[in-house]
Amino acid sequence: MSREAPRDLETLRAFVNTVELDSRRDTARTPETLRVWLVEHGLLEPGETVDGAGHRRALRFREALRRLGEANHDRRVDLAASEEVDAVGQGATLVVRLGEDGAARLAAAGRGVDGALARLLAILYTATADGTWPRFKVCRNDTCRWAFYDRSKNQSGLFCGTACGNAVHARAYRRRRSAGQRPAD
Ligand SMILES: [Zn+2]
Repeated sequence: MSREAPRDLETLRAFVNTVELDSRRDTARTPETLRVWLVEHGLLEPGETVDGAGHRRALRFREALRRLGEANHDRRVDLAASEEVDAVGQGATLVVRLGEDGAARLAAAGRGVDGALARLLAILYTATADGTWPRFKVCRNDTCRWAFYDRSKNQSGLFCGTACGNAVHARAYRRRRSAGQRPAD
């Protein structure tokens, strides 16, 4: 089953997954590598720059999105993560544009990191409006926490793939077994 999200939400999912927490490989580790990634994904113009403050803001935003994806499992809202997202929104310029099909869409107008984060915010807004956002989730395997799109019928997917599901179930089984083997008092 595909774990990719529909349309632009896939860009947001890829942004959250720029860091692989299990291997600690981070494609956005420095302002320069973040800049390259944002340009490659059409969120930043090639001539635009990323400074240290913008880099830190982007990484905070990335982790806030991950926490929102975690909260989506229980259909709740992580208020602290929402505040982080709101803080990013302070520097964002978002405008409504009418497309050739006559449909109104939210678009970002800013430049630099703020413009890039505004584009991601527009994607988040659109996903909440079209109903795809609750399916944006983060793997329940604590050592993984990879963002995936839950395509399961009843929206009950917990893991990014069967490997993580098996790993978590095996850990739970070992815990139960060692608890069962503990000598009685
Ligand atoms: Zn996983």
